[in-house]
Amino acid sequence: MLSLDQLITFFNRDRAATAEPREESRTFTARCHCGNIEYSIVLPASSLPLNGYICSCTLCRYSHGSFGSFHVSLTQGVAPEWTNGTINMSVYKTKGSEPGGHGQRWFCPTCGSHNGHYEPWAMQWIADSSLFEENFWEIKGFGFPKSPGDGGLVSWLPESVSKGMKMLTMDRDFPPEDKIEIGEDGGERLRAECQCGGVSFTIKRPSDAVRNDEYLSRFVAPGNPNKWKAYLDFDKETRRLASVLFMPWALIPRTSLEPEVPSDLLIGTMKTYEASDKITKGFCGRCGAVMFIKNKDGSPSEQSEVLNVAVGNFRAPEGAKATNWVQWRSVPEREKEQIGFDSQFANDIIEGQKAWAVEQYGKTLEFDII
Ligand SMILES: [Zn+2]
Ligand SMILES: [Zn+2]
Ligand SMILES: [Zn+2]
Repeated sequence: MLSLDQLITFFNRDRAATAEPREESRTFTARCHCGNIEYSIVLPASSLPLNGYICSCTLCRYSHGSFGSFHVSLTQGVAPEWTNGTINMSVYKTKGSEPGGHGQRWFCPTCGSHNGHYEPWAMQWIADSSLFEENFWEIKGFGFPKSPGDGGLVSWLPESVSKGMKMLTMDRDFPPEDKIEIGEDGGERLRAECQCGGVSFTIKRPSDAVRNDEYLSRFVAPGNPNKWKAYLDFDKETRRLASVLFMPWALIPRTSLEPEVPSDLLIGTMKTYEASDKITKGFCGRCGAVMFIKNKDGSPSEQSEVLNVAVGNFRAPEGAKATNWVQWRSVPEREKEQIGFDSQFANDIIEGQKAWAVEQYGKTLEFDII
């Protein structure tokens, strides 16, 4: 069971659910990308900001396709009010009833955005904070820091930030035992799989055919012919599509996935959502994991389609950042300036990633991603 200190940091147990007489209340609205899920919550002004947290347990990583979930526990007694007249949601039921994300994970059946879950043991609603219009929390906690194996997002937080955060670890907080697979051609394969296993495929190393192709060769990591390019996406559309502050993507040609993923992305339990006339999102219809974003602009022909593949689902033995398979780009200043949501925390991650890159690569890498 959690200590009182942990309950306060991760579950806001020291906050009032209702305003005192004559005290101001504030209303906050959450909305998924397609608008099917919309709800508001009312909180007493004196309880703000609530504490938010990041959880990098395997359930959170493999259901969001990211390095973790960005959650905020609503005060005990505060519940969402469904404002568009519907609670038409897909539910992924998880096992057990212990702390740490167990219960039900709810996501939009149309666009796949996760919107949170109810923790029965705590009798509290946990919201995916990235779907809110306005920020009413401060990220104060980090759950399951050992699970990513290589530090995951913690290794990209500046020490000045991470030392102020409460770390929550439990018996289940250890890295999964992942292994590299070998294909029929003797080459290595990296598995990517959603939480429920309904969508599963492997990734090949860049082949000679890729390296010799004028277009596809652009996605091979600069100076490292065996790795793919990877980047952090803080775009506001992505935030709503994936219900996270940012997505870690690897850029991989569709033909370098095995078994081959068809151009319509529909393998296993995959569903797709047309986010715009150019952007298609692929997500697991059973657990809601973000798997792909396909951008029509990034594909001159069907055979040369390059997909944004969600790195959070990778099963790399070296850890969540899959550094034996991808090279991480640092976010350039011009992109950093455009981040309009939780921008202080986003900037902390960006700066922390740069410091990590200097240690890892000797310098920051700012390569093209189109
Ligand atoms: Zn939706
Ligand atoms: Zn979790
Ligand atoms: Zn799934």
